[in-house]
Amino acid sequence: MTYDCIIVGGGTAGMTAAITLGKNQKQVLIIEQCKELGKKLLATGNGRCNFTNSYYDSNTYRGDALFAKAVYEQFPYYKTIEFMHSIGVLQQEREGYFYPYTNQAKTVVLAMLDALERNHVTIYADRIVRSIVRKQTGEFHVRTSYGEFDARTILLACGGKASSYFKQEKSYGYGLAEQLGHRLTPLYPALCAMKVSEDIRLLKGVRLKGTIHLYADASLEDSISPLVQGELQFSAKGISGIPAFQVSRYAAQELSLGGTVYAMVDLLPEYSSKDLRMLLSQAEFDNDTTVFTYLCGYVQPAVAEWLLKQIDFTGDSRLAMLSETQWLSIVSCMKQLRFEITGVDDFDNAQVTAGGVETADIDPATMESRCCPGCFFAGEMVNVDGTCGGYNIQFAISSAMVAAKGIMDRRDK
Ligand SMILES: Cc1cc2nc3c(=O)[nH]c(=O)nc-3n(C[C@H](O)[C@H](O)[C@H](O)COP(=O)(O)OP(=O)(O)OC[C@H]3O[C@@H](n4cnc5c(N)ncnc54)[C@H](O)[C@@H]3O)c2cc1C
Repeated sequence: MTYDCIIVGGGTAGMTAAITLGKNQKQVLIIEQCKELGKKLLATGNGRCNFTNSYYDSNTYRGDALFAKAVYEQFPYYKTIEFMHSIGVLQQEREGYFYPYTNQAKTVVLAMLDALERNHVTIYADRIVRSIVRKQTGEFHVRTSYGEFDARTILLACGGKASSYFKQEKSYGYGLAEQLGHRLTPLYPALCAMKVSEDIRLLKGVRLKGTIHLYADASLEDSISPLVQGELQFSAKGISGIPAFQVSRYAAQELSLGGTVYAMVDLLPEYSSKDLRMLLSQAEFDNDTTVFTYLCGYVQPAVAEWLLKQIDFTGDSRLAMLSETQWLSIVSCMKQLRFEITGVDDFDNAQVTAGGVETADIDPATMESRCCPGCFFAGEMVNVDGTCGGYNIQFAISSAMVAAKGIMDRRDK
């Protein structure tokens, strides 16, 4: 038989598109290399699945942000909420972040699997799609590790290289896109921890609220990322936490181009350097007060120790002996703590892939290929990566919905 659509990849995007196509009486086959569908979705949001967010701005998506916007606007967050309701998922919202009411990603996966069954979608799991050929008739021939199939349209929803969930399989789908004539942009791990050159064992385990901003030069003039605020976490080798995750893709990109990367951390973003200097001079102390004790009123002891090391003070230096220049260097260190970034975590430990199928090869109005008619794309395999906060699942769902409509409009012509 010839399917209306073969979807390669039974993840977030593939399942969403299949449910919509099935609901509209299309004959759909999903081919998934893992034994179960939605494996990555199960791990999202620490098992809670943060599937969308009501906040959106021009920094939400990276890669081709304009392409992402064009797709998102056709299927924004409130339509994702409606979609979740339609498949029977009750939701809860916390400060704009949406989760299933059960706080379990499994709820979403089970609801999707149920909707696939209800809408008569055929599923072949545990098979890898090895090649796809577009025949002269315009139809597609799909060869898998177990069986060959034909379809009028193809939806490539193969996800990215991120996370170790697919370690056994390791087939990514980028090769399939290339076989059909599409270009790829370089791929980088994104939403992951960054490694630093400094010996920061002292800071291991520290969590603090601050800002992080990346620069391409040690003098911190050439900005290469937005400034991001939130809880930073330090390990013996690097920086993680959501703000570090948000900027990591810029570090990965710059380093892969042979550049240097420096992170500037502001430990007290609510205060200007001037205000901080004033506050520091207002507190009472006596001749015996050490600089270390005093700083511990502003930052955690491990951070105070680290700061003193940066400016070559010994912890037991008396506060009364500090010169104005020394005071200013303490303030400057608190406001502009600098680290050299030497790398980012690998794909296995990243949440998403930055880069992917070149968006110039795809029409954002339909997600149909511009170079291979009948071939559609959805999800992370496209050159769009979202920030933390539900935006990657949202893009997978938005692009899948746009692709499903594109497939139906095409077939109905
Ligand atoms: C730990 C972790 C936490 C995350 N948390 C969140 C979160 O809270 N919120 C959020 O928005 N995003 C989160 N993400 C990102 C989000 O999960 C993904 O961006 C999203 O699931 C992408 O959907 P997708 O359908 O494009 O790809 P996937 O869900 O990865 O699905 C692609 C599927 O294609 C299959 N496949 C690939 N090649 C082939 C082939 N040749 N043959 C057959 N099958 C193939 C793969 O096995 C896979 O199942 C998280 C990611 C990780 C790793």
